[in-house]
Amino acid sequence: MGPAAADHASRQFRPATPHSPAPVAFKPQSPLDKPVQFVRGVGPQRARLLSKIGIQTVGDLIEYFPFRHEHQGRPQSVDSLVLDAHATVIGVVDSVRSSPARRGGPSVTLRLSDGTGTVRVAWFNAPYLRDRFQRGQVLRIHGQVGEFEGLGQFVNPTVEQLDPKASPKTWDFERVVPIYKATASLSTIHIARIVESALKEAISSITEPLPASLRQRRQLMGRQEAVRRMHHPDQPSQAVEARRRLAYDELFTMQLAISLQRRWTATRAQAPRLPVTPEIDRRIRRRFPFSLTAAQNKVISEISADLARDKPMTRLLQGDVGSGKTVVALYAALTAIANKTQCAILAPTEVLAAQHFAGIERYLAGSRVERCLLTGKTPKSQRDRLLASIAKGEINLIVGTQALLEKAVEFADLGLVIVDEQHKFGVSQRATMRGKKTAPRRGATTVVPHYLVMTATPIPRTLSMTVFGDLDISTIDSLPPGRQPIHTKIVRPEEEAGAWLAVRQRICEGDQVYVVYPLVEESDELDLKAATVEVGRVARDLLPNSKVGLLHGRMKNADKQAVMREFAAGRLDALVCTTVIEVGVDVPNATVMVVQHAERYGLAALHQLRGRVGRGSKASICLLMTDSPSGLATERLDILCRTTDGFRIAEEDLRLRGPGELLGTRQHGWPEFRVANLLEDADLLMQARDDAASLVREDPSLQNPVYAPLKADLRRRFRDKVAFIHVG
Ligand code: ADP
Ligand code: MG
Repeated sequence: MGPAAADHASRQFRPATPHSPAPVAFKPQSPLDKPVQFVRGVGPQRARLLSKIGIQTVGDLIEYFPFRHEHQGRPQSVDSLVLDAHATVIGVVDSVRSSPARRGGPSVTLRLSDGTGTVRVAWFNAPYLRDRFQRGQVLRIHGQVGEFEGLGQFVNPTVEQLDPKASPKTWDFERVVPIYKATASLSTIHIARIVESALKEAISSITEPLPASLRQRRQLMGRQEAVRRMHHPDQPSQAVEARRRLAYDELFTMQLAISLQRRWTATRAQAPRLPVTPEIDRRIRRRFPFSLTAAQNKVISEISADLARDKPMTRLLQGDVGSGKTVVALYAALTAIANKTQCAILAPTEVLAAQHFAGIERYLAGSRVERCLLTGKTPKSQRDRLLASIAKGEINLIVGTQALLEKAVEFADLGLVIVDEQHKFGVSQRATMRGKKTAPRRGATTVVPHYLVMTATPIPRTLSMTVFGDLDISTIDSLPPGRQPIHTKIVRPEEEAGAWLAVRQRICEGDQVYVVYPLVEESDELDLKAATVEVGRVARDLLPNSKVGLLHGRMKNADKQAVMREFAAGRLDALVCTTVIEVGVDVPNATVMVVQHAERYGLAALHQLRGRVGRGSKASICLLMTDSPSGLATERLDILCRTTDGFRIAEEDLRLRGPGELLGTRQHGWPEFRVANLLEDADLLMQARDDAASLVREDPSLQNPVYAPLKADLRRRFRDKVAFIHVG
């Protein structure tokens, strides 16, 4: 996430576990659970190295799959080698030279001849190879052909020792070699060897989790075979099929866990019915000074349908910045209140909570809805009063921050929880809120409030199916009418002077400007311009004669609010800030955004930032300043210049940087995929999802004994990570 982390250190995406039974205790019993230290060729020291890459058990080692396979062609003679080509040769070792430890140069050099010529073979940084070679050995070498002192040379090739007594005929084959993610002290060859030992010991313990019918339908090879072929394919096509099977397993078990959880929520939990009558609908709509867009009406009807049922809604509302989510959320809140329940709206920060409250106040002026703002900064006496009123049900609408989640807050009858920017909350908080009291209803088992999550980070479908797989999704897919375009431009160092001139021009016209810096304070390691340091330069040199304010995440809350008020009131021309303004700030007169070190941000974050302008009646500009020469950086920023469609931007970001980056953290709660790739395996993901859904429909608690291995596999994979697996 880069610089944004400065302000949102604790972003967390995790699936809900609102109704978790206790985790199932895990008893080690299979050879797969044996500590890796006891595998032949490992020992305590290597076990420590392995544990650094997440390998603790034999099972972990076996599932340390190669990230690619190298297709080695049939061996060729030394006199037919072509410079720079990849080639395989077989020859006899003529001489070996090992260099002593910790010297420059190769660890081992040898000469290899095959009767048609001699090549030099060298391994750098490979001390473990030092004692492996002797004159007379027959080696098979594969790598890229180079040249050194007039001789053909292979540097750090893959190597295999052959049996000198075997007939050369048996050596004449193509092969596919697994390439493992190596570390400084563990090479891919090394890993291959210990994986080999582990497979010998434990491959027969690998059970088949998938029922035969499913394997047949999807044409999947058995799991044991897939594991073996992944490490040792005979042909490239076997590696492809093995990979497909293993990726399917990861996607399928995840989708199955999600389906089981959804099923559980649907059958064991109840929520209050909150129907919208025509009268309620009329009264709510009267509050808005505009008519709602078709996109807003569509998601409102989806949400209303959920609220009218006695099953808890768990819905994600996504829409681009400025698409009008607040209005939709307020519609849902007023529906809950019209049905005599309470509604809580949670924001990730105090600034945002206060802004939400202010925004809602505008719409609710003159209404009888009792509402309050409750944050960690609310003075104690006032807080105690509010808490008492909330507990008695005198307050209908509560806007606040995490402070709301504290145990002291008791609701009389909480019907709906709305969370803005859910990804800034952790899963435990989500579960806490779900656990808040609703009024007891006759016959209900567990009564929980409905739950609506809002996010302005558009989430590509493949991701929403996984990370948010437990949520139904509503999307506002178009903006309200009359939006002004935002012109986005990349600014190189040599263009900066001109850019600032344009910014000053805008200020002269009465417009306001955001200047965003990645860090709050200067740090030694990173040569980034920091807001607190640069604010002086901006005021003095770049925007002379302008009133410049400073806003960053480490300021006191009251100071932040004061600066925001000044800026909103137009008493400041420019606001030098960090990404604290990323979400929610709404100042229509601000038409210019300058982002320093734009290459350091995720595209989604930049898109969010940019959404702070373009809110008034005048066309806005967004200047992405960067001195990065990297082609990839430019390619990424270019996407922002070409489109303002948040979904396209998110897809591109996913393509260029992978899901971990897009989400801002790798800790989304699910085990990392070892094989599956959400971009390449999108089709496989759809299949896995369909298969999981139909399995849960047909046998909701996986009672049929044919599913016993599958259940065991689910438990093993999700162990303590996901506690909700609640199958008989
Ligand atoms: P989001 O929360 O999705 O970023 P908001 O709900 O804050 O968007 O709405 C952005 C702006 O658009 C607000 O100023 C709001 O008043 C305005 N707006 C919302 N819905 C409509 C609509 N249907 N017609 C016109 N303006 C709207
Ligand atoms: Mg909003």
